[in-house]
Amino acid sequence: MLSGLPFPIRKLLRDADLELEAPATARIFTNRDLAFERIPVIGFDMDYTLALYRQAALETLSLECTVEKLLRRGYPAQLAKIGSDPEFAIRGLMVDKKYGNIVKMDRHGYVGRAYHGKRMLSRSERKSLYRTQRLGSEYERFAAVDTLFSLPEVNLYAEVVELIDQAPGLWAPQRAPSYGEAWNDVRECIDLSHQDGSIKDRIHADIGRYFAIDPELGPTLHKFRSAGKRLFLLTNSLYSYTDAVLSYVLSDQLANYESWHGYFDWIVVGAEKPRFFTGARLFQELDGAGATVGEPVAEPRRGRIYLGGNQAGLQRALGVAGDEVLYVGDHIYGDIVRSKKSSGWRTALVVDDLEHDLEVRRSRRLLLDEIEHLSQLQIRLTDEITGLRYLSRAVSKMTVEELVRGGAGKDAEGLLEEARAQVRQRVDRLRKYEEETAQTLARRIEEVDLSFNRYWGSVFAARKDVSRFGAQVDSYACIYTSRVTNFRFVSPVKYFHAPHGSLPHWQRG
Ligand SMILES: [Mg+2]
Repeated sequence: MLSGLPFPIRKLLRDADLELEAPATARIFTNRDLAFERIPVIGFDMDYTLALYRQAALETLSLECTVEKLLRRGYPAQLAKIGSDPEFAIRGLMVDKKYGNIVKMDRHGYVGRAYHGKRMLSRSERKSLYRTQRLGSEYERFAAVDTLFSLPEVNLYAEVVELIDQAPGLWAPQRAPSYGEAWNDVRECIDLSHQDGSIKDRIHADIGRYFAIDPELGPTLHKFRSAGKRLFLLTNSLYSYTDAVLSYVLSDQLANYESWHGYFDWIVVGAEKPRFFTGARLFQELDGAGATVGEPVAEPRRGRIYLGGNQAGLQRALGVAGDEVLYVGDHIYGDIVRSKKSSGWRTALVVDDLEHDLEVRRSRRLLLDEIEHLSQLQIRLTDEITGLRYLSRAVSKMTVEELVRGGAGKDAEGLLEEARAQVRQRVDRLRKYEEETAQTLARRIEEVDLSFNRYWGSVFAARKDVSRFGAQVDSYACIYTSRVTNFRFVSPVKYFHAPHGSLPHWQRG
């Protein structure tokens, strides 16, 4: 396709930006400039990247498997009654194990919203717990919720906290666990459910229930390949699971691909990311049925399937420089931060929440503009009141004698009284106006937050600032988008331009 054309023609096409029109929710956003033309190799994670889970079904399953294990540890039978609540957990939250709270922070680590169990903390409760400290560095006390797989445990933990508080008698003859112990139990039981296969075996047995099919996946991968790009799969899932999932989401999409294997030049399963990026494990070749073939090797060969391995070996096999590889994944830490730091790969983050976020931003545009306007107004009012307070203090200290010495006539006392009254009135008026503005602003923010997510607001924003998650997306991903198939709208020679970096004092008034 385009890469086969002579350069002047490609340049013409690129300058004319001849690309398919993408819907607004399918846009790809750029944090750091990236010339797609100079990316000959693209790698993909599987879970939540190529293969999209039906989150509600997965959450229900995850809950069932984990609760079963908690009951065996003596947790109250009431736990079996809790339902899934996919909205309650979003990425970027932190669990405060000490107090049994779940908090959302802005990019500076300040807590803007917090729940104890499922109850939202009032402003004063929140302030008394979190005002003085910037969070994020106390690793012992806080647990980050970073992967989509870890969302169900947040809801489950909140429900356990509710049971600890409201029904301590249920735990007899044992004592109720501390909030910290409960978190560790929930985590361990979820981990066990993943390790012992209870979750993946059940998904494997009923793939269609847990995965959505995107009919554009095959065509998107094919578009990359016809543009001369080579593709690889790098997943932590093991072979039989990978085979079942990719067969389901990619089978029968394009006639010229007999199976999903044909889309990829290199296939690495059971990669154990993020360790893959720093370790030295060898590559074990597997056959199409998942059985081992021969001895482990240092470098994977094209067209074969491998278990394990390491980044350096794969990099040698790819035969290009680190910054000529784009790796597409959904996990900020495991896929994006590590691959970028250790290998210099360029990174694309898949954030499925983005679709909903863009949709709300579009449909609530007027409301968002109003919030912006009210915030500016609030800042101006606060500044003005501060200035007037200073004036008010100066006027109240002033004496009649000073006025007379300054040339005032015999009505000096009356003048002074009048000046004091005027300043007081103005302060009172502005205070009232400020209060009304603050109230309206709070109502508007609440209203727009409900559209994003009724518990937490936008995944990317914290009140008027960027959330911790939003800041991570910004810092670590070169580009980000809601799903892999959005790349079908992009020319293989596209230049992704980042908005020019700016500091606050570079912006115009
Ligand atoms: Mg993944």
